[in-house]
Amino acid sequence: MGYVPVFGGVFPRGRLQDAGGRSSIERREPKTVLEHTAEPKDAPGDNADGERRKVEDLAKKRPRVLVVDDDPSVRRTLGRALDRDGLEPVIAPDGQAALRAFDECAPQLVLLDVQMPGMSGFEVCEALRARPDGDELPIVMMTGMEDLQAIQNAYDAGATDFVTKPIQWLVLSHRLRYLLRAGSNLRRLHETQERVANAQRLAQVGSWELELETGHFTGSDVLWEIYGIERPDTASGLKTLTKMVHPADRDHLQRAVQSCFQQNGPVRFDHRMRRGDGSERVLHCQIQMNFDPDGCPMRMEGIAQDLTERKRTEEQVRFLSSHDALTSLGNRRLFRERLDLAIRQARQSGWKAGILYLDLDHFKRINETLGHSIGDSLLAEVANRLVMSVRGADLVTRGERAEEIENSAISRLGGDEFSILLPRVRDVQSLAAVARRILNSLEAPFSLAGHEVVVGGSVGITVYPNDGEDPETLLRNADTAMYAAKEQGRNTYQFYAESMNELSLRRLILEGKLRRALEESQFELYYQPKVDLASGDIVGFEGLLRWHEPELGMVGPADFIPVAEEMGLITSIGEWVLQAACKQAADWARRGVCTVPVAVNLSPEQFRKPGLAKRIAEIVHEAGISPEVLDVEITEGVVLHDADLVIRELKEIRALGMHVALDDFGTGYSSLSYLRRLPVDTLKIDRAFIKDIENQPEDAALTQGIIALGRALGLHSVAEGVETEAQRAQLAAWKCDQMQGYLFSKPLPVAELEELWERVHAKDRG
Ligand code: C2E
Ligand code: MG
Ligand code: MG
Repeated sequence: MGYVPVFGGVFPRGRLQDAGGRSSIERREPKTVLEHTAEPKDAPGDNADGERRKVEDLAKKRPRVLVVDDDPSVRRTLGRALDRDGLEPVIAPDGQAALRAFDECAPQLVLLDVQMPGMSGFEVCEALRARPDGDELPIVMMTGMEDLQAIQNAYDAGATDFVTKPIQWLVLSHRLRYLLRAGSNLRRLHETQERVANAQRLAQVGSWELELETGHFTGSDVLWEIYGIERPDTASGLKTLTKMVHPADRDHLQRAVQSCFQQNGPVRFDHRMRRGDGSERVLHCQIQMNFDPDGCPMRMEGIAQDLTERKRTEEQVRFLSSHDALTSLGNRRLFRERLDLAIRQARQSGWKAGILYLDLDHFKRINETLGHSIGDSLLAEVANRLVMSVRGADLVTRGERAEEIENSAISRLGGDEFSILLPRVRDVQSLAAVARRILNSLEAPFSLAGHEVVVGGSVGITVYPNDGEDPETLLRNADTAMYAAKEQGRNTYQFYAESMNELSLRRLILEGKLRRALEESQFELYYQPKVDLASGDIVGFEGLLRWHEPELGMVGPADFIPVAEEMGLITSIGEWVLQAACKQAADWARRGVCTVPVAVNLSPEQFRKPGLAKRIAEIVHEAGISPEVLDVEITEGVVLHDADLVIRELKEIRALGMHVALDDFGTGYSSLSYLRRLPVDTLKIDRAFIKDIENQPEDAALTQGIIALGRALGLHSVAEGVETEAQRAQLAAWKCDQMQGYLFSKPLPVAELEELWERVHAKDRG
């Protein structure tokens, strides 16, 4: 026994397939909804489910037609006729039953009587149309002959077609077949569209079409999803989308569209797009033109695929494969790539490239005693300090150093080995400075999970092309140099032999000799006057250090100060300068000559430890002068270290009554916000600008700008290196406060300076 599914229940199959092969419907009164709703309960059978499924499968093949009529004879006749024609009749005697039947067995077509008690056919039709699946259902209304109004009403209610009673089955049968076929085609079309939309959604591909003649633009749902906007109307769609294209990619898009007019195949390109929420997406597009038979462009079609996620993943994969997970520094592979590139560039441009190879001292011991996880944290912290000390602050004193730092690449080669690549090295010397900074940065203890850990490092340095022309040799030699540093007692750096030779002999000699210079009193301070631009009066002196080396002769500060800084000698030399200047000022005060403030230059290294201001106060006190007689000059490099500490010290220095000048202004990288924070009184405009104010409009503008900036911030301005009368006149016209330079006087030893002072003041008196 089987069952045919009809909404709300099943017919026992046995009654349909009777002996003799006669049409079962003849022996079966087609049941109404009301009649058979209870039947499933009656349906017995051990394997009823399995049977039912089979029957359902069978029935699926027969299109289901819902017949709604209050007249039992019509229902019967139609039911039989449909069944005979291989259709599956579902019968309902009134509107309510019809709606239930529709919900339960989803007919493919409805034959609906217009006139029924209760809900009219029109109401049923409207109700069916309002159902989620009802909008495309073919509904044929059965009206009385000649009832034109009913026909009109039927269409108004949403009917697909109508037939008049009495029904001529043959005509109706054909019409039903036609409607069923059309309905099923429509369904298939919708299914296909649905599948396409789903596929688009999965692939994040949106599609669109633009009719060139009308400008009508239609896009798929996914297209608008990608752009994150509601579907605009067809007239404004294109404009809306092009507005969202990243401004930098608009030309690119334009070119792609143009070439699309000229070629038959698709044009492919990527561009960025900005959504309303500010997020940026990367799209891959493909556009193509359709031409009419005469070759005129007719319609443009395109797809847009959202590649953002893919790009992000690719980016991530690339990052992971080239970076060290623990420290986020580049890994050995990336280092090799960068080194290859640096060598190629250096070869072309004649630069040098430097490699610093750092190995931590006794790292193994830390790992063994404190465990690997602390070892890992230490490596991560070391990486941070390396980045800080190499790239460190955004403030660097000299342009050369800034450049070297910008392009540097820090990598972890494995274990406790790090490498720093400096691709543009003008002076081998600067590599030593970087190595020293790195070692200094490791000095402070690391606090890791409650442990204070101290770790030093040894640095080997190689230089392309001195120490090797290829990456392998350079790295091997850096490794050798690193071991040499370890042998020298660790926590130091060592050049590979070849570049050692290139390190000017002079410098080596300097290092050796500089240590003795203080003890053997080889230093002397020269003084250069600062002149008021308006009055022409001498208003101050700058003390400039000179070194008389018995064998080398006079060595300029530009040559030996960096060496002294690196050797850690600058603090004691700086103290000597302060003492010498104070003693001199005391002497002048006593004798009543050269009675203007004396400025001394302070090295950033002198600010590394707290207490500079206190030390200056002591020195001033010991010399017995008033602090107002002393001024200090600093460079922007001071803030490379602990900016807060520097600011505290400077405030203290000013509180003593001294003025602070920011030296060489304009050559460093001071941001204005730093300038505001730094407690200074004066800006000294670097000679580099003054030199060309007469013939370089940019330098003139910058100088004038700095003077104005200084005035706006309440700072004095001093022009350095004034050598010509024209420069002086120009600076005076710009209302620069003071000047310093060869035009008035070179830096002079004390005796000569006193003569100058006498000459100037004798003239004044005379
Ligand atoms: P600075 O402080 O900017 O000093 C000005 C430099 O410009 C001096 O060079 C000076 O001789 C030079 N100069 C002055 N007027 C002219 C001019 O009209 N034309 C030219 N071509 N040059 C002029 P110097 O004495 O060689 O000093 C160089 C730098 O060394 C100084 O630059 C300063 O940064 C540093 N320095 C000098 N003495 C000391 C010191 O006692 N301690 C520290 N830490 N640094 C010092
Ligand atoms: Mg100076
Ligand atoms: Mg200067």
